[in-house]
Amino acid sequence: MTSVTVRVPAKINLQLAVGPPRPDGYHGLVTVFHAISLFDEVTAVQADTDRVTVSGEGAEHVPEDADNLALRAVRALRAEQERRGLAPGDGVAVAIRKRIPVAGGMAGGSADAAAALVACNELWAAGLSQSELCEVGSAVGSDVAFAVLGGTAVGRGRGEQLTPALVAAVRYHWVLALADGHLSTPAVYGKLDQMRAGRDVAEPELNTELMSALRSGDAERLGAAISNDLQAPAIALFPALGETLSAGEDLGALGGLVSGSGPTCYFLARDDIHAKDLAASLSAEGVCRAVATATGPAAGASVIALNALW
Ligand code: ATP
Repeated sequence: MTSVTVRVPAKINLQLAVGPPRPDGYHGLVTVFHAISLFDEVTAVQADTDRVTVSGEGAEHVPEDADNLALRAVRALRAEQERRGLAPGDGVAVAIRKRIPVAGGMAGGSADAAAALVACNELWAAGLSQSELCEVGSAVGSDVAFAVLGGTAVGRGRGEQLTPALVAAVRYHWVLALADGHLSTPAVYGKLDQMRAGRDVAEPELNTELMSALRSGDAERLGAAISNDLQAPAIALFPALGETLSAGEDLGALGGLVSGSGPTCYFLARDDIHAKDLAASLSAEGVCRAVATATGPAAGASVIALNALW
């Protein structure tokens, strides 16, 4: 195999419940991940040494060196091969085509890491199972395992302890409002701690009404049940998000929320036509930089092209 291309989805969080800060600095989470049809494409090709190039949406903000999460994933998979006593894979040239907004709260970097794992597993015929790739991915970043898995899943710990959710076979229609600016994830958690200062913070719990809505496939119930503890601090740091969310609500979205640590906001539409209307109206009102529509759940990182020289 000389070249492998993998398509990998963005995620939104249907629930993001954040506990008190732990001694290691992380916050315990309970989150419900949902993969949507906004995809990056990652191609891995045999090369003398590892390298990465990035094109597309926000490429100028992504490092093209060893810090790129895709190259970190390549090294993690090689280390796993060595740990198993196998010959480590050759060098790879990784080409990333981005559509997932960078630093948008949609785990785009983690998605590229997941795609690189799936691509190199194929390129090197390494033979790791999906759950083994999830385990390697967890060491690279908290959201990498979910990008390998896709669908809808409950995440605990830092989000890396995953359980696939029991859901009705329903396709939901989402509208994404991409913000004009970035939010740093540590800054949003810091603001949350500041806003909670002096209060007892309970350990996070899974929202049973949300899980029941997902099992029934009832979009109205789902829209009413989504929640994100990082929304208030994200709005405090980026007040324009409050206007974006109000606009979506006024336009009849079944629900609207900041995605992850923001600043992307997402809205649930009734159907495909409502999603297109909502996207056009949000765009016309000028409450965000750009809009996109997507459906979910989407499959996790999947090989879409293989090339071999025989
Ligand atoms: P999360 O939702 O997991 O907090 P995010 O969607 O807000 O993540 P990312 O798009 O993953 O943010 O990017 C976070 C940072 O990681 C960026 O500032 C970027 O410089 C860096 N980064 C490293 N590799 C990548 C990559 N392949 N794609 C995007 N960002 C990357």
